[in-house]
Amino acid sequence: MSYADFQARIARINDVLCTLNLLAWDSRTMMPPGGVDARAEQVATLTMLAREMATSDAMAAALNAAQDEVGDGDDLPARAVALARREIRTLARIPADVIAEKAALSSRAHSIWVAARAANDFSAYAPVLERMMALQRRIAGAIGGDHPYDAMVGQFEPGMTHARLQAIYAELKAALVPLIQRAADAPQPRHDFMARDFPIPAQKAFGLKVAEKMGYDMNRGRLDDTAHPFEISFTRDDVRITSRFRESWLPGGTFALWHEAGHGMYEQNVAPEHARTIFATDLVNLYAVGGASFGMHEAQSRMWENRVGRSRRFWALHFDDLRAQFPDQLADVSQDEFWRAVNRVRPDYIRVEADELTYDMHIILRSEIEADLIDGTIDVADLPQVWNGKMRETLGIDVPDDTRGVLQDVHWSHGYVGSFPTYTLGNVMSSQLFAAACRRSGVSEGLEAGDYRPLFEDMRANVWSHGRSSTPEETLTRATGRGLDTAPYIADLTAKVEDLTA
Ligand code: ZN
Repeated sequence: MSYADFQARIARINDVLCTLNLLAWDSRTMMPPGGVDARAEQVATLTMLAREMATSDAMAAALNAAQDEVGDGDDLPARAVALARREIRTLARIPADVIAEKAALSSRAHSIWVAARAANDFSAYAPVLERMMALQRRIAGAIGGDHPYDAMVGQFEPGMTHARLQAIYAELKAALVPLIQRAADAPQPRHDFMARDFPIPAQKAFGLKVAEKMGYDMNRGRLDDTAHPFEISFTRDDVRITSRFRESWLPGGTFALWHEAGHGMYEQNVAPEHARTIFATDLVNLYAVGGASFGMHEAQSRMWENRVGRSRRFWALHFDDLRAQFPDQLADVSQDEFWRAVNRVRPDYIRVEADELTYDMHIILRSEIEADLIDGTIDVADLPQVWNGKMRETLGIDVPDDTRGVLQDVHWSHGYVGSFPTYTLGNVMSSQLFAAACRRSGVSEGLEAGDYRPLFEDMRANVWSHGRSSTPEETLTRATGRGLDTAPYIADLTAKVEDLTA
């Protein structure tokens, strides 16, 4: 009875958070600009309601009674109680006024960011970002840690710290910088055809057909347009994805669609018994989500996008299908040319359009800037200058304007400070997941034949179904037999550059 009471309370919080997700989906796809202020208040009200429910005396009593009932073991009920207790303790440390202001601010900041980016006007965004960073510093102080960035990263990737990140970044930089150089020095592949006129309905039809082959279930999903692609779920039975298609740039929308479909498959395949439990409810971020962490979510999406979607064998299987959609546009393009074009390595300004080799450099830059903003080494006002300097230093390019520089990402406007590292952690783990899956029976044979079911089932069994009942570290160890390791990722990228420059 006590455990059931605890579960019922978590289920109601999950309902509130799923409703918040629906409001977030709406505001990023359908909402007219005029709806912004009222929506900000609605989001703040529901967020505070969820926080009150989680930190109430009644919840504390329910937790204690549930713990008495289930004990301290390692079975799922005991894990559920321990996880909820841990997250509620963290949540309770963050002052209520900070959470309320952050929720309201992030709704408003989003539209201010959209306008500032369109107008290339950093000064219009700076005040709201200044306020957001002040709130983030209070959150970091309340949660604690060796470095203030520990609290920021730990919200998205439990167990990750500033110090561990520094070590991972150092390994990656040492391996990637010479690889980028090598790819940049090689003759550049043809890519003129990517910018031809590709009608969007045909792009969507092709992309969705492949996403469904991978295993994204359109009965429990849908695809919409947005400015900044994302996936969001309102329980496992309604998991929506978005993408941003451009007529004159074929790979942009298509690869983003497969990436988001990867996130979608994760949420759709969390075990049904975890629905509306703590294993599908993140009480630190007050976010309804079933993934073990942001990094693990990213890992398997990156796997579908890059390890599967950018492989030579993938295009051997799907290029004819693509050319059937675009017979004129691709008439003079071979399968090999197409594979080379979707893997073209070129230092550029925009993170979301970056190739696999340079992508992590964009993340490392953001992560270093965030850590310096949080510990006060730099001010918001310095951002454009710091950003442009780092771009020159790491990728050797001059940023032409803030729209294509410091204003390009949505994350800070949402208060997602500390989430960028999860992209690089995801990249690293994507190779670990893929290599381990390919060693198990049937997966490689399936990929060879265009049958994605064995890889899908492998992910379902080892990653997705467990939801948040395992930590990211436990999930990775279950799926791969070991903890975080940059070697498989570096090996994959090295092999790719060798293949591309051979
Ligand atoms: Zn992602």
